[in-house]
Amino acid sequence: MRVKQTMIRRSFIILAIGGLALTFSPSRLRAQGSEDWNRPFPAFKIAGNLYWVGTADLASYLIVTPQGNILINSDFAQDVPLIRKSIEQLGFKYADTKILLISHAHSDHDEGIGIMQKDTHARLMVMDADVPEEESRAPGRPGAHVDRVLHDGDTVELGGAKLTAHLTPGHTKGCTTWTMQVQDGGRTLNAVIVGSPNVNAGYRLVGDPSYPNQAQDYVKTFAVLKSLPCDLFLGAHGAYFGMLAKHAKMTTGGANPFIDSDGYKAYIAERQATFEKEWKRQQEHPGSVAQ
Ligand SMILES: [Zn+2]
Repeated sequence: MRVKQTMIRRSFIILAIGGLALTFSPSRLRAQGSEDWNRPFPAFKIAGNLYWVGTADLASYLIVTPQGNILINSDFAQDVPLIRKSIEQLGFKYADTKILLISHAHSDHDEGIGIMQKDTHARLMVMDADVPEEESRAPGRPGAHVDRVLHDGDTVELGGAKLTAHLTPGHTKGCTTWTMQVQDGGRTLNAVIVGSPNVNAGYRLVGDPSYPNQAQDYVKTFAVLKSLPCDLFLGAHGAYFGMLAKHAKMTTGGANPFIDSDGYKAYIAERQATFEKEWKRQQEHPGSVAQ
């Protein structure tokens, strides 16, 4: 009886927390998400030692080195078992994950990072301005412990792999675009993993007291993104760079479709124009938010 009451109480607490979560951004993020967000997808090699281990849209990247592996993005907590399975399907060990990184502190990229940290004992490294969100225990937040605080331009090195953390703020205050060089078939490829250039629904670009310089941060971000040399065009969501279509093309052979410098430039230009249009609209309609 006591056991039953405890179970009922636990269920109630879970329901209560679930209800609370509805009022926070994670549910809004879920509402915006596509069916592909939590759909399993076969893991595959992008180039060299860089692999896709995410869902059909939520990116998770594995960088394999002789001294263990680096994993970028845990996705939602519910996606962690899928990512683990993907790593194992490639023939690697989840327990060999030594470093955990994120694109930015939104639950579709980091909600499961605390679980992964406990599972693997990997060191979590996060851009300074996203650290409070990473350590927060609010609904949808991972409540993780950040082992190393990163600053703009810092590098993360392991077993010959070297990643650079570029602060590309606006989408979140510590939104991070990762770059690295990948050796593939005698070529050196510059990989860019875009953090996010997107203005989400509900964002107030003018006069938001919780983020007064948000629009100015986006302006800086587009300048940074335009300055990065890019061969392998990647990002926090597969949809940024047409992952599904490129993966389908890859399986038919020929040149690696993820090498897409022109696609990268076109994407950044289109996203910048979209941001500028929204910023102008909000300046003309004070107090309005993105739809
Ligand atoms: Zn986001």
